[in-house]
Amino acid sequence: MNKNLILTTTLAIMSIASNVSAQTEAERIPAKGFAVFEEHGHFRPYEFTRHAVGDNDVQLKILYAGICHSDLHHVFADWGKETYPMVPGHEIAGQVVAVGKNVTRFKVGDYAGIGCMIGSCRHCEACEHDLEQYCEEGAIMTYHGIDRFNGNEATQGGYSDTYVVAEDFAIKIPANAEIEKVAPLLCAGITSYSPLMQAGVKRGDKVGVAGFGGLGHMGVQYAVSMGAEVTVFDITDEKRADALRMGAKHYVNVSNPDELKGLDKTFDFILSTIPARYEPAMYMKMLKLHGSLGIVGLPALNNMPAVSVADLVLSGATRRVFGSQIGGIKETQEMLDYSIEHGIYPEVEIIRAEGSEIDRAYRNVLDGKVKFRYVIDMNTIK
Ligand code: NDP
Ligand code: ZN
Repeated sequence: MNKNLILTTTLAIMSIASNVSAQTEAERIPAKGFAVFEEHGHFRPYEFTRHAVGDNDVQLKILYAGICHSDLHHVFADWGKETYPMVPGHEIAGQVVAVGKNVTRFKVGDYAGIGCMIGSCRHCEACEHDLEQYCEEGAIMTYHGIDRFNGNEATQGGYSDTYVVAEDFAIKIPANAEIEKVAPLLCAGITSYSPLMQAGVKRGDKVGVAGFGGLGHMGVQYAVSMGAEVTVFDITDEKRADALRMGAKHYVNVSNPDELKGLDKTFDFILSTIPARYEPAMYMKMLKLHGSLGIVGLPALNNMPAVSVADLVLSGATRRVFGSQIGGIKETQEMLDYSIEHGIYPEVEIIRAEGSEIDRAYRNVLDGKVKFRYVIDMNTIK
């Protein structure tokens, strides 16, 4: 171990120790929000506490929280067993109300955001490459996580009035942002932005976006802003006009086989955000030589699509299929700054912070009736 590494490790351990010792019960912060209490449960008010504001932490008053399809997957235990009560929400926009004594990037009154993760080891290869979501010791998720730096408490998410997060996992939101639309950028935004960057999408490229929902409509706007010619794939005709309005050139309803004709070998990049079973091979066939398919949609385990080895081999080494999970903190900040600078925001429907409203939003996401992201106005919590 070199001297620097020993010093950083010692400092990290000291800071963890100081965080933990700061957590006396009396200092814990009361929070209230909405939880489900069982698989497929309804949302009901829930009061809990969060750890105290440590020296390196900021506390946010949550202003807005987005409803991501991943929240539905968790509530429905689509990806395996969950623990309850569960307060979902990993698209969080808020305002700083307290800062620890070592905090330098935020002051009280600033806007700040939290995405899907709130901590990681900060020293493994992934963390050193700004890919904290792939931390070798495990990224700590914003909810359904265990916060090993804060007494192993179960994390609870953004459908609530406040959150305490380490400064280095909080995202700066510029003061001129349209704050009521920012929350979904913290997951839908970064998850669609990152693979476009990984694929090196550039002006004139032909880009497909499969699944035109929360993630997809962000992917379309980013790809259009990068100068790509964009084609949207979805299963309904109802979003055709929206896609064209957002700058897509073509819209394909995949339920109508005629619309798929002539598309083989025509795309430089296709982003799949589909949350249900489908045939990845159909999209692989549409790639040009050197084209790639970036997959971010993560359906339920019992509905998981498969990529066949035969398809990979026969489509040739020059075509690539890759998966991608959100984005690291540095790239999330970059995406947020890019979005605000280019005026790229999700289209949101703002709902009141009530259990029945969140239940209704979930039904509508399942029924394909959301355009394009529900955002809970946490100021309306009673
Ligand atoms: P939405 O429900 O908002 O959007 C999904 C869209 O896909 C809807 O428009 C839906 O249509 C459409 N769709 C469904 N089936 C098909 C199909 N066979 N072909 C084409 N389109 C289809 O979900 P989100 O955008 O919030 O999330 C999408 C997925 O991404 C989820 O699985 C989510 O868990 C995952 N995700 C992954 C992340 C990552 O880090 N990789 C991060 C965040 C989310 P309709 O509405 O008509 O049903
Ligand atoms: Zn999400």
